[in-house]
Amino acid sequence: MIELTGMNPAELTAWCKEQGLPGFRGKQIFKWIHQGADFEGMTNLPKDLRARLQEMAIAQPVEIIEKRQSRLDDTVKFLFGLRDGNCVEGVLMHYHHGYTLCISTQVGCRMGCTFCASTLDGCVRSLTPGEMLGEILCANRFLEGKDRVHNVVLMGSGEPLDNYDNVMKFLRLLREPDGVSIGLRNVSLSTCGIVPRMYDLAEEDLPVTLSVSLHAPNDEIRRQTMPIAKAYPMEDLLKACRNYIDKTGRRVIFEYALVGGVNCEEKHAVELASRLRGMQCHVNLIPLNVVEERDLRGVNERIVSDFLKTLEKLHISATRRREMGDDIEGACGQLRRKTIMEKKQ
Ligand code: SAH
Repeated sequence: MIELTGMNPAELTAWCKEQGLPGFRGKQIFKWIHQGADFEGMTNLPKDLRARLQEMAIAQPVEIIEKRQSRLDDTVKFLFGLRDGNCVEGVLMHYHHGYTLCISTQVGCRMGCTFCASTLDGCVRSLTPGEMLGEILCANRFLEGKDRVHNVVLMGSGEPLDNYDNVMKFLRLLREPDGVSIGLRNVSLSTCGIVPRMYDLAEEDLPVTLSVSLHAPNDEIRRQTMPIAKAYPMEDLLKACRNYIDKTGRRVIFEYALVGGVNCEEKHAVELASRLRGMQCHVNLIPLNVVEERDLRGVNERIVSDFLKTLEKLHISATRRREMGDDIEGACGQLRRKTIMEKKQ
């Protein structure tokens, strides 16, 4: 079976010709796939061709196997099923500027951050470009044509820059005129900081917003929670961020999860501010979402607001990330893990 979902119109045209079909079928199939259709629904293709494609190819490689809707807001958490039996998570959030979908880029993750549930069982495999697109197509089908996904954040399970080529191919699909048409300015890519790939990304001419999971004001603290910090010191990481800003003209977002007793004192905010001074950036503060299996503490509201105030006083642009879907296992990797554990019992 061949997955057609990750192909662009030119590749699909070439594939159709290889199959002895007229080239224009490629463009038709591309359009249908991005509308979320399976082969039987591709009504401008001859019936026997639809049946033939059904036998040999895959149009929609992802399906929703579970969904949880928040009672607190409009957030929906999806468990997406892949064809090999694996599953990944996605979260659909309704903001005033439209729907944002948080997608996964790998089944699990091999980065080993101590606060994150996605990495507990390591990385099973990377997602294909078609599977990442498939997550968006699922969410669009869920919205039943009444609305669609406008913004995408690569902040589900997985490290996007550890699946570099597939993620780049996926991003290029988003801006195809006959596709899901999501402008890359509406896409955020979050990385734990794989420095060499950050330099590569700056050269891609893809105007995505780069989010960097910093979570610490210095290497000593960062190494306590993020193994990647042992490979790339913060100085090199911030240099790569400055390069990204220079090359793209876009500000970088720093994610900073506040972990009780680790990185949330005033002196940490002061040190963070001194390292980020003069940089075109924004800090997103996230109160740690406590993961059962990990021995880490969250923080109270007061700690978050004090940290925020210190950063603001030192002229660092910062906000507290809005928490959504808190009642539906909103944090990374938690729903998938829960489902897998329940299955094992
Ligand atoms: N691998 C990428 C993207 C996935 S995680 C990265 O590291 O950036 C998306 C964001 O959620 C990251 O900033 C990550 O550090 C954060 N995160 C993971 N687990 C969390 C938790 N339990 N509480 C708060 N933030 C968490």
